[in-house]
Amino acid sequence: MPVMRLDGFTPERVYYEPGILGYPLGRTLHERYRALSVPMIEIENHNRIPELRARPEADFARMKRYLVLGVRKSLTHTKNAKTSDFLVPYTSSGCSAMCLYCYLVCTYFTSAYLRVFVNREAMMAKMKRKAEKDQRHYVFEIGSNSDLVLENIVTGNLPWTIGEFAGAPFGHLTLPTKFHMVDELMGLDHGGRTTIRMSLNPEDIIRRVELGTSPLAGRMEALVRLYEAGYPVGILVAPVILVPGWQDMYRALFKTMAENLPEELLRSAPLELIFMTYSRTHESINAAAFPVAATFCSRELMRPGGRGKYRYRAEERGPAEEFLRQSLAELLPASPIAYIC
Ligand code: SF4
Repeated sequence: MPVMRLDGFTPERVYYEPGILGYPLGRTLHERYRALSVPMIEIENHNRIPELRARPEADFARMKRYLVLGVRKSLTHTKNAKTSDFLVPYTSSGCSAMCLYCYLVCTYFTSAYLRVFVNREAMMAKMKRKAEKDQRHYVFEIGSNSDLVLENIVTGNLPWTIGEFAGAPFGHLTLPTKFHMVDELMGLDHGGRTTIRMSLNPEDIIRRVELGTSPLAGRMEALVRLYEAGYPVGILVAPVILVPGWQDMYRALFKTMAENLPEELLRSAPLELIFMTYSRTHESINAAAFPVAATFCSRELMRPGGRGKYRYRAEERGPAEEFLRQSLAELLPASPIAYIC
């Protein structure tokens, strides 16, 4: 197994399905945390951990310090129409960071902690088979369920993943990240077959809302390193959050990008801008777990959008989009806008 870094995340306890011991990665992780005297708790199913389900919402941040190890059973690909052809359930779900809007909370509720699935070979084989069978350069989005750069500091999966696809006859991978830890991605033969999309936001929003993620400067530096290492890259400004003073913040962000990112990078990196959505689930968990930080979202600017979700009202969002488009045209004229949604 590859050498794995341990400095980023040592869990407070590990829950594991015994089935992980049938896989090399499962055995490596089990042995590592046992040797570190991390409490190891056997579970039947990573989807049903009764003692964690019973914990109150106020324990959300505490549970983010746990790690769950399992075997992924469902490998179903979902068709997608934005930056990829398929959303792929890959080697993890959830994350140890705590962005207060994290969309995964709508799916996993308080169980949005990091779960690592050790049967990576099966997930990789399914993608390769699909692309080869249809002889298509399908784009597989492998990071829609977690942050794979963060997961990599636990598993070392990313260099393996990138290397596997570098030589595959068909297919392309893409993943977003809010983290800077890309050392292990340098010097790899990636074949230009994995796109890494760096998610940026004003530093004030990162500190107040994207708890536990990398600072803006670190993310931009990592983006430049990836670009210089020949990876196809993209930039997400996501989510756009309409906090008081947001206009100045986003203009300052665009200026910072213009000053710190090479023009060629900006020219080649499609920009995705996504307005924040929020939900009753977020409100409830954030109020219990982060009572001070939770005030960042003004419900007056939002309208119900079905299934307990909120979106910015058209009268807020329309002018905001116009403002962002004008600011981009002025400050980042070389950047191609893939979409604003
Ligand atoms: S880094 Fe991504 S997956 Fe992790 S909490 Fe933030 S939005 Fe969710």
